[in-house]
Amino acid sequence: MKTPSRIKLSSSMADKLRKTSFRKWYERQLMTSHVHMLLAFLSVIGLLASMEAFRDASVAEKVMDVVFVIICAAVGLWALRRYLFLLMHAEEIANQATCSACGEYGRFRVVGPERVGDEVEVCCRKCNHQWLIAG
Ligand SMILES: [Zn+2]
Repeated sequence: MKTPSRIKLSSSMADKLRKTSFRKWYERQLMTSHVHMLLAFLSVIGLLASMEAFRDASVAEKVMDVVFVIICAAVGLWALRRYLFLLMHAEEIANQATCSACGEYGRFRVVGPERVGDEVEVCCRKCNHQWLIAG
């Protein structure tokens, strides 16, 4: 029986870094995380609107408002969690993106296969210094 393969975030990151530059990957991570922040903000607005509509509503409408509050709270919490995860992951990688030999920031290419411990070997485009980035 074949077991399902485990999806690793870092292998996804390594593949994306192979296809595009670090700066474009980083920009995309930030944009995606901020879209999640916008979704969390809209969920708060929906939650407050549902609570406001609860006041002068009939029993059926109150039940519907409670359902909307629960849905908005769940979506908002998921979006906030996703926003923080994507932002922190991007910052974690960005903090390792400076070449220790020449100080160049974010100009590297992935050269090695993914290693144990979710590390990826990268090479500076300016001075060819190699180091590991843990994702
Ligand atoms: Zn360098």
